[in-house]
Amino acid sequence: MRLTQGLPKALALAALAALAALAAVAACHGSAESNEFERRYATMGTIVTVTAFTRSEKNFAAAASELERLLFNIGREWYPWADGELARINKAIARSESVQVSHRLREVLQRAAELESLTASRFNAALGELSEAWGFNEPLQTGWRPPERELIERLLENALPGAQSLRWSDDLLTAPASEIKLDLGGIAKGAILEDAARILKAYGIENAIIDIGGDLLVLGRIGDRRARIGIRRPGDSDALGWVAIASNEAVMTSGDYERFFEFEGKRFAHVLDPRTGYPAVGTSSVTVIHRDPMLADAAATALLVAGSVEFESLCAELGVEYALLVTTSGDLRLTRSMAERVNWLPN
Ligand code: ADP
Ligand code: MG
Repeated sequence: MRLTQGLPKALALAALAALAALAAVAACHGSAESNEFERRYATMGTIVTVTAFTRSEKNFAAAASELERLLFNIGREWYPWADGELARINKAIARSESVQVSHRLREVLQRAAELESLTASRFNAALGELSEAWGFNEPLQTGWRPPERELIERLLENALPGAQSLRWSDDLLTAPASEIKLDLGGIAKGAILEDAARILKAYGIENAIIDIGGDLLVLGRIGDRRARIGIRRPGDSDALGWVAIASNEAVMTSGDYERFFEFEGKRFAHVLDPRTGYPAVGTSSVTVIHRDPMLADAAATALLVAGSVEFESLCAELGVEYALLVTTSGDLRLTRSMAERVNWLPN
């Protein structure tokens, strides 16, 4: 999520939002009893939009306030370059100290570790130092150039053990090396979608779309049918197709077109390949649909790194049935089940 610098992403995924909005309009006609409510939050460097279809404005307002607390809290606590819990954890690791971790953050870190192992570390939640060396924590800098190869190699070595190497004794975390810097940017949005869905359900809201800058989760239905979500053509503002999304499914996209630097005509995007320490090459975007939002988020990131050659095998390893990959030359790879679900739009 690079919980950081996301406005470009919100714009980049406008097609998704636009199609979600179309679906939302349809909903009003579909149901005489429920009304559409929307709340937007500018947080974590992106725009979060919650659209709910419910009879109770009061419940929506209460849920929306709780969502606001969740989003602003996580934006601070889970962002490695803010002044919150993850930053404190990273500081403790740097001092070779053990550190107490809150319940939810521990769950997410342990899930990240499992996903590292399932993806043969294409997904790695400890790339903080490397991301920093590449400058992705400071997207607005000018005169950018890639870091020295020596630095990349050294930081890569530090990062390789990943979140898998963390030792836990209940909620006490110990890292094997002081150079590890945790960065949950590739999975946090999945976790937030899970939490946000729980909040909406707790207020009796059964039909909603929670959209974090284009990564989203659908609850229930939009009027009398499934939500239709557009899959954006990478680097373009239109959608290449749309998919009807079932209740509780998350749609997560990882791309090279929303957060990147350019140097000597080459693009360096914010998803790093833990095999090389350099930005992943060859893939423009990956979209994963799954009922487990954290898995979908990490899978999209890992598949972007893995690229088209490993696409099928990694989807199988992760239990991802629905995924679509667009290479930098515009070729598509889809899982068989995804191919059956996409409704293509004309070019
Ligand atoms: P987005 O933030 O655009 O939704 P991702 O879900 O792919 O995209 O997350 C990218 C973020 O994940 C990066 O900004 C960085 O914080 C982190 N990251 C970069 N490379 C990796 C990787 N190989 N594995 C896990 N996290 C990564
Ligand atoms: Mg991700």
